[in-house]
Amino acid sequence: MIDLRSDTVTRPTQAMREAMAQAEVGDDLYGDDPTVNALEARVADILGKEAAVYMPTGTMTNQVALRAHTEHGDEVLMDVNAHLVRYEGGAPAALSGLTVRPLIGKRGIFTAEDVNAALNSPHPFVPQRATPPQRLLCAENTHNVGGGSVWPLDVLVEAAEAGRSHGLSTHLDGARLWHASVASGTPEADYAAPFDSVSVCFSKGLGAPIGSALAGGAAFVERARRFKQVFGGGFRQAGIVAAGALHALEHHRDRLADDHRNARSLAEGLASIEGISVEPTLVETNIVRFDVEAMAVGEFVDRCFERGVHLFPGGRRTVRAVTHLDVTAGQVEQSLDVIRGVIEEFGEDGSR
Ligand SMILES: *Cc1c(COP(=O)(O)O)cnc(C)c1O
Repeated sequence: MIDLRSDTVTRPTQAMREAMAQAEVGDDLYGDDPTVNALEARVADILGKEAAVYMPTGTMTNQVALRAHTEHGDEVLMDVNAHLVRYEGGAPAALSGLTVRPLIGKRGIFTAEDVNAALNSPHPFVPQRATPPQRLLCAENTHNVGGGSVWPLDVLVEAAEAGRSHGLSTHLDGARLWHASVASGTPEADYAAPFDSVSVCFSKGLGAPIGSALAGGAAFVERARRFKQVFGGGFRQAGIVAAGALHALEHHRDRLADDHRNARSLAEGLASIEGISVEPTLVETNIVRFDVEAMAVGEFVDRCFERGVHLFPGGRRTVRAVTHLDVTAGQVEQSLDVIRGVIEEFGEDGSR
């Protein structure tokens, strides 16, 4: 089976498993796990922040960040298709009592003007207690639903600055920040600089089995540790999994360029298939979103699955394919053959 559903499906390599087996561990809730401590220091260093805290999932790092930046009833500005609001189980409302003010970005990328347009303009004629306090601005880089889109650094800096100049805190969901950096050559710390907090993921494409980290100023990260505990994320001998994340950071970051190349050639191949619509030049990283016009998406992914290609139905017409550590260039070609076959066969069935 060629699994293109997500870059989370990777299995740890033998070398990663060995690093994990040999990890020195301790009780992380007491701050005693040397491997977790090393991972947190390494992440803070890469992101140019004072501190970082390791957690089980990216959803938890994001939601702990929201909780740590806000109080119940506050408003958070973010793209309408942010992972934070679309795929985290309703957590902003459920866990932190937040209202989301959606910004209408293009492929997940909004501008300073979009932020300014959404900010309340205080005036004596408007009772201030009627509007929810605007507290936080969030961005996502790369943007998942946007198709792995990479923010131009200046656009990101200006958008964050628009929020900051109105007193908002800023959070960057950088689950795939590694991909943005490899694709653009912009260091992670440059993307992180305009943000009070940044979350990054080790199990998306980097190939670690578990874990994300939330980085920021020392006081913020201390506050985040409290909510990590509140949300049930207090770890014990987490060095076992942190060792996998450390190994991934050292050995699997540069090779993301291979995944980006594979995603682009997948998109180029798809573009040549009649009945499929995709814009290969928009494929900047490892996510390919394409529209199936020839047949229903559900049936398309079912038929591909029967022939050994696992895809993710991402919308009424849209399919998502993600390249990763466990997908080779040869398997991309095989996938294209399968997809072409499915579309052609359906055309024949339809005309029978
Ligand atoms: C996957 C993802 C997350 C959440 O990560 P989990 O570890 O699956 O909880 C957050 N943000 C983005 C952009 C993601 O793609």
